[in-house]
Amino acid sequence: MLTVKQYVNNPYTSNTFILEEDNGADVYLIDAGFTCSIKELIGSDKKIKGVFLTHAHYDHIHGINEVMKAFPDCGIYCSIDTKQGLYNEKLNLSFYHEEPITLKSGMVTTFGNNDSVRLFENCHLKILETPGHNSGSLSFIVSNYFFTGDSYIPNIPVVTKLKGGNKEANLKSLELIYSSCYGDTILCPGHGPTFKGGALEQAIVTDAKRYNIPFNI
Ligand SMILES: [Zn+2]
Repeated sequence: MLTVKQYVNNPYTSNTFILEEDNGADVYLIDAGFTCSIKELIGSDKKIKGVFLTHAHYDHIHGINEVMKAFPDCGIYCSIDTKQGLYNEKLNLSFYHEEPITLKSGMVTTFGNNDSVRLFENCHLKILETPGHNSGSLSFIVSNYFFTGDSYIPNIPVVTKLKGGNKEANLKSLELIYSSCYGDTILCPGHGPTFKGGALEQAIVTDAKRYNIPFNI
C-alpha cells in the first residue's frame, strides 16, 4: 500500500513528501527543499528512485544535489521551465539568498499535461500543468493524494508576483485544481499542513470566492 510522509523542511518551511510502499526499498520524493541528511529524510534502508519537482524555486530544490550524490541513478522529473531553473540560480531565486544552487549532475526528464509515470505496481503519478505561481509549475496526482506545490496552498492567496508568475494563468490553474479535488482527496501543498474532507472543501469554497472562480460541490 502507498504511504505518503510529510517532511517539513528547515529553514525554508516548504514540504518534501516521501512516497513509499509497505516493505519496499524504493521511495519517490515530491520536491526536495530539505537541508537535512538523506538518512534523516528517508532512513538508511531506503533508496530514492525519482524526484518530482513542482517548480524550481530554491526552497523546493535545495537538496537535489545531495539526492544525486547519494543516488546517481535517481531520475529528476519536472517541466521544461523547471529544468531551465535547475541550471540557473537567478531563475530559481537561490542567487538572491545566501546559497546559490544549480544542478550539478543528473538525468532530467521533462513532461507536461496528462503525462503519467509509473511509480509502483498499480500506482501511477499523473501530471497537471498549473502555471501561475511560476511558469513551470506542475501539480501531481497519485492515488487520492494531490500535490499542488505553491500553485495552491489552501487559505493562502497564490503568490504570482515573483519572476515567472502570471495572474491570468493562476486563475485557470486554480479552476483546474479545484475541479480535480474529490471527496477523498488529500491535498498536499508546498507549504503548511495537508487538507482533506470538510477542511479542504471549506478552504476551496473560501478561496474560489476570493478569486471569483465558479465552484460547485
Ligand atoms: Zn515557489
